[in-house]
Amino acid sequence: MKPRVLTVLGATGSIGVSTLDVVARHPGRFEIHALTGATQVERMLEQCRNHRPRVAVMSEPAAAAVLRERIAAERLPVTVLEGEAALTEVATAPEVDTVMAAIVGAAGLPATLAAAQAGKRILLANKETLVVAGQLFMDAIAASGAELLPIDSEHNAIFQSLPRDFGGDFQRAGVKALWLTASGGPFRTLSAAEIAAATPAQAVAHPNWVMGRKISVDSASLMNKGLEVIEARWLFNARPDQIKVVVHPQSIVHSMVEYADGSVIAQLGTPDMRTPIAYALGFPERIDAGVSALELMGRQLSFEAPDCARFPCLQLAFDALIAGGNAAAVLNAANEVAVARFLDEAIPFNAIAASIAHTLDQLAGGAAATLDDLLDADRQARSVAGAWLERTYP
Ligand code: NAD
Ligand code: MG
Repeated sequence: MKPRVLTVLGATGSIGVSTLDVVARHPGRFEIHALTGATQVERMLEQCRNHRPRVAVMSEPAAAAVLRERIAAERLPVTVLEGEAALTEVATAPEVDTVMAAIVGAAGLPATLAAAQAGKRILLANKETLVVAGQLFMDAIAASGAELLPIDSEHNAIFQSLPRDFGGDFQRAGVKALWLTASGGPFRTLSAAEIAAATPAQAVAHPNWVMGRKISVDSASLMNKGLEVIEARWLFNARPDQIKVVVHPQSIVHSMVEYADGSVIAQLGTPDMRTPIAYALGFPERIDAGVSALELMGRQLSFEAPDCARFPCLQLAFDALIAGGNAAAVLNAANEVAVARFLDEAIPFNAIAASIAHTLDQLAGGAAATLDDLLDADRQARSVAGAWLERTYP
């Protein structure tokens, strides 16, 4: 079997590291064309030593300069590139057949979209791409014949629970609803007042998953589930009313599909992102992920309704999905700005939802026909949200 040739966008992050862990378990099955990072030179250097990519990209030029020196000093056969254009270059290189899209935030959009236009097999972790530009991205996939495999554990579970030939046809497949499970995050049992006063350290201490800082805060606010609702809309061609959210604190049932005959099909497993990553890397074969077996004996699994009063971000995302147009791009950008400021301890936790609501009020309803429109909406939302936060929390 010819090895699959991979580019890992966001290799130095949580998903990137898990991806390389799975790859390393299957010598000869994969070849690494490129690894990319932003600022973490030491981790990239170590990945270059262990995984021997042909190319390493640091989106930050200063980090690329340091890496280039270290690579030269160790005489590693790795070309170091820098900047955003290089991310697109390694995502579309002709020798690459598979792209793991694991950059965090809308920053991942250009290279992920380019990989779709180039007809690659895309393993999609970067949910923000679908939130910002879902229609354009899915159109690009259809036009190029690219293959799209979801990495987000919920969407991967739904993908596994749908018929292979689903093709977005709810009627023909007899699908009634998609059920996204949510852990509820670290603040599930806190009062509104306690949530308002929560610190970054509390927000990133997720009970079941170890993830990057941005998605950890999103999990605490339930914005992560909101982004996933929008992601599901595009991945599976679902109407908003066909997407349900249920809180399941144990994170064992990764999501479910409800069928017309009353059947509910779910995918279960130990909460470890290497399972969905291995599923997508090996597809359609099943390969070892290094994940510990699911131990169900003596386990209690519970389910409860999400509380949009304490977690308004989930409702804001549903609202943005229903509003359509530029609203999801605005929601996403305002959220990225607010989460970054929260992590910098410049604003309280409940300012995240408030600033998103304000920004949506100001900007929703604007143009959204082209990629430029959406990138414009993203820029404007960053500026409106940033200005509001500065005024409100000087
Ligand atoms: P992370 O913060 O751990 O890693 C982010 C990666 O993106 C790093 O390699 C970083 O260098 C790179 N990056 C950051 N900013 C960049 C920029 N401006 N330009 C280029 N590269 C940049 O994040 P993560 O937790 O691995 O999440 C990555 C993506 O996967 C996110 O979209 C997240 O929502 C999604 N996701 C993550 C998990 C998880 O368990 N971590 C689960 C589901 C989905
Ligand atoms: Mg998820």
